[in-house]
Amino acid sequence: MSKRDYYEVLGVARTASQEEIKRAYRKLARQYHPDVNKEDPSAADKFKEINEAYEVLSDPDKRARYDQFGHADPAAGGAGPGTGPGFEGFGGFGDFGGFGDIFDMFFGGGGRARGPQRGRDLEYELEVDFEDAAFGVEKEIQIPRMETCSTCEGTGARPGTHPETCPVCHGTGEQQSVVTTPFGRMVNRRICSACQGRGVRIVHPCPDCHGQGRRRVRRTVNVRVPAGVDTGTRLRIPGAGEASPNGGQPGDLHIVIRVRPHELFERDGIHVYVDIPITFVQAALGDEVEVPTLEGKVKLRIPEGTQTGTRFRLRGKGIPKLGSNVRGDQHVRVHVLTPTRLTERQRELLRELGKELGETPQEQSRTFIERMRSAFLGD
Ligand SMILES: [Zn+2]
Ligand SMILES: [Zn+2]
Repeated sequence: MSKRDYYEVLGVARTASQEEIKRAYRKLARQYHPDVNKEDPSAADKFKEINEAYEVLSDPDKRARYDQFGHADPAAGGAGPGTGPGFEGFGGFGDFGGFGDIFDMFFGGGGRARGPQRGRDLEYELEVDFEDAAFGVEKEIQIPRMETCSTCEGTGARPGTHPETCPVCHGTGEQQSVVTTPFGRMVNRRICSACQGRGVRIVHPCPDCHGQGRRRVRRTVNVRVPAGVDTGTRLRIPGAGEASPNGGQPGDLHIVIRVRPHELFERDGIHVYVDIPITFVQAALGDEVEVPTLEGKVKLRIPEGTQTGTRFRLRGKGIPKLGSNVRGDQHVRVHVLTPTRLTERQRELLRELGKELGETPQEQSRTFIERMRSAFLGD
């Protein structure tokens, strides 16, 4: 749907005076008034078109914008603030909501101004001790971030002075240019380069932020690390990110946890693993041993005849599940130590024990013999 030029509609020159426009309008309005053209249904449309043209051309402001932007003027069309670029016509392309994306595809966007921007989010990696990750901790961290300048309260103007409306964008924060494309004429809006979208001009810049309204500050932030966090856990502190460049909401601070490895304990989710050595005598005869846990030592009963690699479970001695009362277990894996640097007497005792137990380990392990048999004989 192409729209006729308003000057053409009224049949006047572009240089026509207000008086000429008014005269042309009156003449056409009388001619096409619906009351006098009852048999001609197209007259109503024609009358509407004439009125619309007159409404714009009779108003010096609207006429000036029309001269500059044509039908693409977003202020005259349906595309209000935030609805995307304006397009030719009042009900044509302007109503096609998804067009903004196509537009961006063709012209690379160029960053459209859309009211106050939210401040940037910040990310901070926080290393915590194994135990602190398990039971929670309060941490003070120092983050460099952009904050609203306290000297000028974010206006960017030297105290006692005021920012002026940006003369380039008249305070809208955006600049427009008309582009002709296969789809018709479109208005390309971009953030005003003179004021970076703030809509104001700083005549006397604030000495502390040099007119930016924000300053980079090293800020101490308290972080409450809850019990049960693990490497990769993200905590969000709303509003603790950077200040907005133009009066919007501040961003958030994201804390990414990294748990320092422990020299004794390993962790898998909410469960803790620990390896403990026992002598082969303890393994054979059974004993009570001390096992380290996250909350100090506990006693663990090793039964008679324990093999190396056997796991024992200490229920509830693991790590609390983040945000719940559930708690993991501690798994204790025993390692039977082979004695080394034996005295002659110890060797003698062991040889004797060996004879007593049988010549080979195979003879001492019934399960091994059974596995061998099924592997080779297939039963
Ligand atoms: Zn300042
Ligand atoms: Zn501007």
